[in-house]
Amino acid sequence: MILRFDRIAMELPPPSDPDPAGAAAVQELLGGRFGEMSTFMNYTFQSFNFRGRQGARPFYDLVANIAAEEFGHVELVATAINTMLTGASPTSNGRSSKVDPSKSPLAAVKGIGNPQHFIAGGQGALPQDSNGRPWNGDYVFSSGDLVEDLTHNFFLETGARNNKLKVYEMVDHPAARALTGYLLVRGGVHQIAYARAVEYLTGADLRKLFPTPRIPTSKIPECKPHIQRGDHLRLYRFSPSDYKELAAVFSGANPETGEELVVVDEPPEGVPPRDLPPQPAVFSPDFAPEEVAEIAKKLREMAGLPKEATGMVADLHEQTKRSTRKATSRSKANSKARAK
Ligand code: MN
Ligand code: MN
Repeated sequence: MILRFDRIAMELPPPSDPDPAGAAAVQELLGGRFGEMSTFMNYTFQSFNFRGRQGARPFYDLVANIAAEEFGHVELVATAINTMLTGASPTSNGRSSKVDPSKSPLAAVKGIGNPQHFIAGGQGALPQDSNGRPWNGDYVFSSGDLVEDLTHNFFLETGARNNKLKVYEMVDHPAARALTGYLLVRGGVHQIAYARAVEYLTGADLRKLFPTPRIPTSKIPECKPHIQRGDHLRLYRFSPSDYKELAAVFSGANPETGEELVVVDEPPEGVPPRDLPPQPAVFSPDFAPEEVAEIAKKLREMAGLPKEATGMVADLHEQTKRSTRKATSRSKANSKARAK
């Protein structure tokens, strides 16, 4: 089973200039062969299928636990794509607060990026690669042979980092850069974890494979804060009480820096997600979002819930910090954020 937290793994920049073409490129990191859906589902199926797991517990715990981190990476890539798509369609035509469909509000994005971001979706991420091809179950490799699966996982993390570097080189949107900077560091940790596992099982010295790809992340500005924080050394344990034996495999030194690897006995703290504004031209969440908000407000009252929405979102948090005037209601705060 998976326990879920309504937080994302790291802070991404707020929406700025929309970049639908960049968002289409970032899709490779979500639904491509080497994307986060692939790492997530590879380790998930390998853990589901793991036979004799008590006898091989440190290896089972390692694979099962990294699978859980990858779910959060899928969420993070989707968040970056959604951030980049925010504002790509108009929120109103002229003086009216409503979008007038007869004025072709989506004409400006015709031929740019992935048309399905606008037609099939509400300016949101899709389980597709950068060519719009759906993520494919054939990307999952789960042979049952531990050495085969672990060497595959090392290769998968290597390919994933290669694609992240290329997307970094192709897309300079701040959300894409922050995303790839973080994922390059975390992917490096997963490469080390699988290399250590293969080393313990076979005696092979895989330290010589590092760094792969041969680009030092310490020189990439968006990687630096995560390296300074020590995230290039840490494997987090994504369970209140399970997967403790991963510490038996994730040990020793980072092959690039020589620093000692660390198991953190809890998930990363993460941050509240931003409440990205409605995009009425694509009916997300509705052609008239304020009506949905009214209905939700009434339902909350009828259910005896607090008047203000209970979930935590980054925007509200920041607004409260910025302003001494306390917003009288969550919907007021949100409509203010949307008016910007
Ligand atoms: Mn990942
Ligand atoms: Mn990974």
